[in-house]
Amino acid sequence: MPPVVKLSVDADEVPVWRAALARAFAEAGLAVELRLAGETVAPETVSYLVYVPSGPVRDFRPYTGLKALLSLWAGVEKALANPTLPADTPLCRMVDPGMTRGMVEYLVAETLRHHLDLDARRCGPDGGWPQTAPPLAGERRVGVLGLGELGAEVARTLAGLGFVVRGWSRTPKRIEGVRCLAGAAGLDETLSQSEILACVLPRTPATENLLDARAFGLTPRGATIINAGRGELIDDAALLAALDDGRIARATLDVFRVEPLPADHPFRRHPRVFATAHVAAFTRPRSAAAVIAAQIARAEVGLELLHVVDRARGY
Ligand code: NDP
Repeated sequence: MPPVVKLSVDADEVPVWRAALARAFAEAGLAVELRLAGETVAPETVSYLVYVPSGPVRDFRPYTGLKALLSLWAGVEKALANPTLPADTPLCRMVDPGMTRGMVEYLVAETLRHHLDLDARRCGPDGGWPQTAPPLAGERRVGVLGLGELGAEVARTLAGLGFVVRGWSRTPKRIEGVRCLAGAAGLDETLSQSEILACVLPRTPATENLLDARAFGLTPRGATIINAGRGELIDDAALLAALDDGRIARATLDVFRVEPLPADHPFRRHPRVFATAHVAAFTRPRSAAAVIAAQIARAEVGLELLHVVDRARGY
């Protein structure tokens, strides 16, 4: 009997995921029985749940035969907050080459926009002609907080463009062209040496409010903050205070404590905040479905699953 794979995503996303998964399973030569949420299937017969935490299946208790929970999201704080998450079933987060490309493009675009200060160089209706040479990348110090699947590729790409790159993670890393730092001292060096700071950390108890008044006190005066990790990494009030006193010149924010960002939130109208609607990096069905197929193929022949979440660490 082929294993039963159940898909649980938001209703409007079902057709695209069903098609992508069917294609990926066929391309991998993997025989599975794909079931959608809402289709009649005895929960105890389901081997793999491919899901998003906002989807229809939220109570995992009837799913007693699960071999793995395969999340379609990279961030796992919502998945971990589910009280019915089975203790002994591996939870895998999404590591998708398409998502990684998206994050690289978003963070490189924003880094370059701030680096070149394109907004200040615009020829407007005042007849001005602001013709000053921008610095080259080799004269710009940038920092990347988080050197995981996404951050490492961002740091590598920025270094490839010639930026002076520091990167920070929990455990030490080696990335060509990047000064990789770890631990408390490494954080302080990264903060104090980054004119542009791009953040792509997960939300965990250890990273919440990492970017607070102390951190903004360490960054060079006039630094730019870009946050594509999670809203909780930033102390909002401290960022607004740092923006208002000029210590932080500009912020690009893609993620927020409350999403959608409330209509009356000061980030929406601050002249030096550029807010986007959690769009930095989407899971791309085509490439992500291939990852899901590969995970199931591994598990079915007894190989270890990849990208299993360490629940104690929180990512
Ligand atoms: P990974 O788990 O691959 O990498 C996480 C990185 O953060 C690792 O380098 C890890 O260090 C580091 N880290 C975690 N905790 C700490 C800590 N306490 N101190 C220092 N470093 C720490 O995750 P991804 O790169 O795949 O994704 C990162 C996050 O990006 C996701 O959790 C999600 O929140 C966010 N995201 C945002 C999206 C958007 O559209 N805005 C889209 C996708 C993801 P180490 O390597 O030592 O373990």
